[in-house]
Amino acid sequence: MKVKVIGSGSMWNEYNSACFLIDNDIMVDMPNGACKYLYRHNIDPSSINHVLLTHFHGDHFFDVPFYILNKSKHQSTKTMIYCYKGGKKKLKNICFLAFPNSYIDAFKESNASYICDDAFKIKKYDIERIEVDHGRLKPSFGYIIKEKDLVVGFTGDTSLCPAVEKMASICSHLFCDCMHIVGTNKHQGIDNLKFLTNKYKKCTFYPIHMDNETRKKLEELKLDNVIIPEDGDAYLLNT
Ligand SMILES: [Zn+2]
Ligand SMILES: [Zn+2]
Repeated sequence: MKVKVIGSGSMWNEYNSACFLIDNDIMVDMPNGACKYLYRHNIDPSSINHVLLTHFHGDHFFDVPFYILNKSKHQSTKTMIYCYKGGKKKLKNICFLAFPNSYIDAFKESNASYICDDAFKIKKYDIERIEVDHGRLKPSFGYIIKEKDLVVGFTGDTSLCPAVEKMASICSHLFCDCMHIVGTNKHQGIDNLKFLTNKYKKCTFYPIHMDNETRKKLEELKLDNVIIPEDGDAYLLNT
């Protein structure tokens, strides 16, 4: 599995907001600015057929309207959006705000399918979504992606909760919220990451959604089993 880090930062710094591209085809989250991020990495957004949304905060889904508009001009491609049940209505609403005169046509012509299941398959991958605890924003999901013995997780935005521990216990690689130095009831911090790395030694952790001071501190700490991603890094993951 190839995971390209399109964005590794939180909203409040020069890094792109957290989002990832798997095998040039599956995007995890589509933050505001994501289409521009992709173009800067020489990737045409219309080449992406699957979008896994973790939750409905703007820094995770606000570029979906532009993605859909772009896809509507490339009708031969597939558009599959994975989100919670109420997600389609939310996406319709922001498409209406983004381009009121053409959103109905764009929505129709993109021919998007919306998948709201807890488990599904994309090509060779079995994917499970798992509800995490991101404070008041409910539901918020992480994704566990399996290919035989390879298990790769994306927590999305979350505090330390049983779902994160479940992911750390079964994943060989986990892209893991680490926004703050000290975790809160909405986001994890370096204290939570230290706890996870000590308890789940078989897992390699990739802190994401980082504030700049968190990134700096993590670089100083050099924790075992932690790889600090930069925007544009790509990892070829296997067991
Ligand atoms: Zn969030
Ligand atoms: Zn966020």
